[in-house]
Parts: sequence; C-alpha cells; structure tokens
Amino acid sequence: MTPFLFYPVKDKINPTNLFGANPIEYKPLGQNGHPGNDYESITGTPLYCPVDGLARYNWDSLGGDGIWIKTTQQGQNYNIILWHMPTLSNSGIPTVANASQYPFQIKTDGNYYPVKAGQLLGYTDNSGYHPVGPSESTAQHLHLGVMPANENWAAQNPNNGYLGCVDPHPFYNGLFAEDIGKPPVVIPPPVIIPPLPAPLPPNPTPVQESNWLTSITNWLIKVLASLQK
Ligand SMILES: [Zn+2]
Repeated sequence: MTPFLFYPVKDKINPTNLFGANPIEYKPLGQNGHPGNDYESITGTPLYCPVDGLARYNWDSLGGDGIWIKTTQQGQNYNIILWHMPTLSNSGIPTVANASQYPFQIKTDGNYYPVKAGQLLGYTDNSGYHPVGPSESTAQHLHLGVMPANENWAAQNPNNGYLGCVDPHPFYNGLFAEDIGKPPVVIPPPVIIPPLPAPLPPNPTPVQESNWLTSITNWLIKVLASLQK
C-alpha cells in the first residue's frame, strides 16, 4: 500500500490518544480503544482535504459533526472520517462553535460531492462534547479515522472494536494538504565573503597605492556579486 493521506492540518497528533489508546474510556462507547488520530487543533482551524474522493457532511446522535470522504486507493475502498467539526445542531446538543461562525465548505445536504486533496473543507471544533452524559469529545480537536470499506462503502470489518477503523499512521504520506500547489520553499546558499586584501605598508609608493585600490575595488565587486546570488 502506497501512503495516500495528506495531513489535514499542521497541528501535531496527540501522543496520548493514538489509535487503540485509552480502552477504559472507550468501553462505554462499545469500543476497544480510540478509533483514529486526534490532532491538537483549536476551534476555527482551517481543515484541508487529505485525499481525492467524494465528500459528504455527516453527524451522529452524540452531537458530533463532520465529513466522510469515500476514496478508492490501489483497488481498496476507504471511508476517511474527519470529525468534531462545528455543529449544525442536528443533534440539539450545543458545542463551542457552530457552522454559521465556521461554515462547511461543501454543501451540508448529506449528498456526496467530488473533492480534491488540498481544498478547504471547513474548520475544526469540538462537536460531540457534552458536559453531562455520554460525550464523544472532551476538548477542541480534529479526529481522523480510516475505515477500509466494502463495495457498498460499509466498514469491511465493523466488529473489530474500533468501528471498523484501522491505525491511520501507515496511510500518511508525510505532506500537508495545505501545502499542495504552493511552490517549494527554496533555501538560498550561504553567502561567502572573500578575505580583505592585506593592508599597505606605511608610506606606500603611489604605484603600490593604486594596486591596493584595484584589489579593494575587485574585492567589493566580489562581495556585491555574492550578495546578489
Ligand atoms: Zn479521536
């Protein structure tokens, strides 16, 4: 499998809640552990599409909102899940932000729309957070899940204890979706200044003086040329 997923944000992945972590916390949700990666993104962080595919707005009964992307890579179907985006209040559970402040950048009618890696999909938030009762989010962040899917786009292995999801890490290509199409950063070579010509002895003769002036002029030309590189 060639890695195909770009990082959707530049924030780092939370090292304490990697895939499979914290089984005790996930048991009440019927899971064996964390079913994805969490990026430490604050509410309103622009969220860029991590892969080409078909994207659909989605929400769940615990108040979580987000986007599912259907993508086929090397003959295998996957659902890529981007979760805890600003709520559209479908669940009636309030969250930090809502989609009128940080609007989705695809239509939210539940249909699938073609998307390209690198395009803005919307913003991150904390939807699914609930101060009392079952809560699927405890802080502002972005959740990313990778779900291998069958020909009907349902989880291939729904009873694996992670909602059919697998560890996203082997799928990352190491690049940021936000940087797609931007020119590469070019680091200029170091400027090397040649050594200054030796000073003249006391009371130089006129001929020596003119040679020295030529050396100084040549040195200045070299320095200016190296600064212009
Ligand atoms: Zn998560």
